[in-house]
Amino acid sequence: IPITARTLPDLAGTISVPSYRRSEISTGIVHFGVGGFHRAHQARYLDLLHEAQAAPDWGICGVGVLPADRRMRDALATQDGMYTLCVAAPDGAWTPRVVGSIVEYHWAPEDPETVIERLAAPGTRILTLTITEGGYNCTPEGEFDVDHPAIRADLAPDAMPGTVFGLVAEALARRRARGLRPFTIVSCDNIAGNGRIARASFTAFARLRDPELARWLSAEGAFPNSMVDRITPVTTEPMRAELARRFGVDDSWPVLTEPFTQWVLEDEFPLGRPDLDRVGVQLVGDVAPYELMKLRLLNGSHQALAYLGHLAGYRLVHEAAADPDFAGFLSRYMATEALPTLPPVPGIDLVAYRRELLVRFGNAAIGDTIARLGADASDRIPKWVLPVISDRLAGEGEIACAATVVAGWARYCTGVDEQGEPIEIVDPLRDRLRELAAREEWEPGAFLSERTLFGTLGEQPRFVAAYRKALQSLRTRGARATVRELAAGHP
Ligand code: NAD
Repeated sequence: IPITARTLPDLAGTISVPSYRRSEISTGIVHFGVGGFHRAHQARYLDLLHEAQAAPDWGICGVGVLPADRRMRDALATQDGMYTLCVAAPDGAWTPRVVGSIVEYHWAPEDPETVIERLAAPGTRILTLTITEGGYNCTPEGEFDVDHPAIRADLAPDAMPGTVFGLVAEALARRRARGLRPFTIVSCDNIAGNGRIARASFTAFARLRDPELARWLSAEGAFPNSMVDRITPVTTEPMRAELARRFGVDDSWPVLTEPFTQWVLEDEFPLGRPDLDRVGVQLVGDVAPYELMKLRLLNGSHQALAYLGHLAGYRLVHEAAADPDFAGFLSRYMATEALPTLPPVPGIDLVAYRRELLVRFGNAAIGDTIARLGADASDRIPKWVLPVISDRLAGEGEIACAATVVAGWARYCTGVDEQGEPIEIVDPLRDRLRELAAREEWEPGAFLSERTLFGTLGEQPRFVAAYRKALQSLRTRGARATVRELAAGHP
């Protein structure tokens, strides 16, 4: 059965569908970057609120700005804006739900004027974004990249805007001229301080266009930070076919996700917001502790699995996580090394959070890959693992697991695994990393000498000793035995 407004009654016998009248919901939120994650996360929270009849003027208007988003426009158009969100439990059970919260969708290259007017409309009070980390258009130094060709094009006199910045600035200018306040801008991208970064980028573009507009946005606009979490892999054709096989639902672009979901949001919405707290969103004054928790426990553990897991022969995340040696290693890393570096996180039981992470990593139905976790390590290890080591060194704390993760990375960077097979290193610094890893052979500690990655950690005797011990063990006994020894006694 295809998904359309007309077929909903037929679908209702098999899967959960909206019971609310979508035609009576007006747009209050415009979202840029309707991909897998938005449809698994924010759109589902709103869908829950609509089911509770609690957000009649908070429908979502989706917007795509890239050429590739034409596909999403077509998929949603044939399905009256709806799609199936399939929650895949670790036991393999799928719980599908037709989500109805996206009440309109516009592909900006085709119709920028409609997008601008939707943004400028008084009913639009929130703009949300999942446009990826690169979408904020920052240089490596963290400045707004004014030389990007698409940005330059949008700044040309009388240009019809094509980027998210151009469209938003034009809409803000119209709001200002009409005596309306700016909408609240909420970045839901996986970046530390995402609200701060969104503020910097949108204000920077507005300044290039009109300094007065930038001053107004800076004074009147709100950019709450948010922490978002729900592992959502890319939709695959086998997954689509499986949905049809199991439930008879013919969806051109469904989404598969895990049961866990979390959204922590700073409560700064001058023009109001939906009652998100009713559906489990945590509204807080400061997102920073939640962010630290997620980066050091979830993302740090992903790093702990990536290199050591690959060396031990694993290619799928859930297979490595199901191995008792690796599960024990992760438990010990989190409990005795990462967790003690965290401030209390209000409303969160960190022990339960840590345990739940292991269950999430073990979810076979998600099919996450070790290769995905191991990409771009030079961006990730310094942000997620090394800060734990620095904190522990300052406090005399244990660092054996974290040092083993770093040693595992160095061993991985030799480019050959324990079976003698080549390792494909995906990293902007790949050549440099391979050279440093090779030098380790005759110059122990050489890997740690790269100051752009390790700062002065390579000169800290306690860390260097733990790292060298772990590397020696990896070379002589292999990843599995090394991990097993550290895991001993940890469930
Ligand atoms: P996706 O590829 O399904 O969708 C990405 C969307 O971003 C597309 O609509 C694309 O057109 C848009 N986009 C990309 N670059 C853009 C640009 N420069 N300007 C405007 N739009 C742009 O990816 P996804 O899984 O939906 O993830 C998107 C983002 O969500 C991630 O980068 C991450 O920051 C965040 N996130 C994802 C997950 C996850 O598990 N997938 C979890 C937490 C956070």
